[in-house]
Amino acid sequence: MNDKEMLLLKLGEVVLKGQNRRSFEDRLVANTARRLKSCGSFQVYIRQSTIYVEPTGDSCDMEAAYAAARQVFGVVSVARAVPCEKTVEAIAETAKSYLADRFAAARSFKVESKRADKSFPMNSIQVSQAVGGELAEAFPHVAVDVHNPDLTVFVEVREKYAYVHAPALPGAGGLPVGMGGHAISLLSGGLDSPVSSWMMARRGVELEMVHFVSPPYTSRQAQDKVLELARLLTAYCGRLRVHIVPFTEIQEEIRKNCPEEYFTLIMRRFMMRLAEAIARRAGARALITGESLGQVASQTMMALGVTEDVTTLPVLRPLIGMDKVEIIHTAQRIGTYDTSILPYEDCCTVFTPRHPATRPHLEDVRKAEAKLDVEALVARSLEGEEWVWVKP
Ligand code: ATP
Ligand code: MG
Repeated sequence: MNDKEMLLLKLGEVVLKGQNRRSFEDRLVANTARRLKSCGSFQVYIRQSTIYVEPTGDSCDMEAAYAAARQVFGVVSVARAVPCEKTVEAIAETAKSYLADRFAAARSFKVESKRADKSFPMNSIQVSQAVGGELAEAFPHVAVDVHNPDLTVFVEVREKYAYVHAPALPGAGGLPVGMGGHAISLLSGGLDSPVSSWMMARRGVELEMVHFVSPPYTSRQAQDKVLELARLLTAYCGRLRVHIVPFTEIQEEIRKNCPEEYFTLIMRRFMMRLAEAIARRAGARALITGESLGQVASQTMMALGVTEDVTTLPVLRPLIGMDKVEIIHTAQRIGTYDTSILPYEDCCTVFTPRHPATRPHLEDVRKAEAKLDVEALVARSLEGEEWVWVKP
């Protein structure tokens, strides 16, 4: 490691946002700085569509900062780099020492240069040739190969310094959290809803979570598992508020008063009503669920229509067209899979009908629900609502 080592973060779609670009960039810098706080003290600033992350003390954990930066939405790639004077000699010297291990392991290399400072007297091809020449001399066992090299040395000639780095790794992509509005995400303990939450956060949505609990049918462990899933998501979206909403009375009333084939559907209608009430209070403009078309009886097209009948907020379902295998792969990639598969019951799995309606008609479901005092049930449930902040 080099003591001047820092990070260069490249922006994704943010650069395409025209007039809004400034606020996107400000948001991204703020999000990055917040996410890196736990890794040490860093200066974070932006120049020419690149975010610079420079350690300001010697207690910075660069490995952790690198990993954290790769989880910030709005960043497409992250490179660990070392700055140096803007001369061919200094650049070559820096590459020799900083990338010595990489050269030792490589049989071929090339230099790829970028000149963000257009006043620099050499163009990028000339920089690559000159630096490449010096490196070829310093590492005679490593051949120059511009087509398929083992190692690519990147040189960026920027405003104040030149920067040397090995290939960057991909970032999380998407848009900075906060730029895509504010929504309530319905988080269960399953595989799907952590993925749907992550997908909307990646589109810049600031999330607030709602989780329904039905004690004693659901356990404390089931609730803790959901809080742990939320905690895993904070690595991407920062701290999250999780509303814990009691659901037992509603489920018992449904079981007592409604036809069995509609249990799940009526239950889901209550979830929407409660989530909408919480959204209105929080100023959130949409609901997010982990539903995927046809995955279970309550996720057929007609069932989805019956479910969203009770809310006027947009219901965002980012998994709607995804296969289970794709959802599982995503859960593994974002780190929620192992927690999601822990075997605790969800309130959706208590009182499940033996033969749920798969082609429900709205009027029938409304009629089936008529015996319930919907408003009173919703109000009582909301009275018992609690919330916790989950921190990274
Ligand atoms: P998941 O894997 O997310 O649990 P699922 O395939 O089990 O989803 P359902 O149980 O029918 O499907 O739930 C559909 C969606 O409803 C979930 O993705 C989630 O958004 C929401 N949901 C289900 N149960 C709860 C709960 N206890 N609290 C909050 N939201 C829930
Ligand atoms: Mg579930």
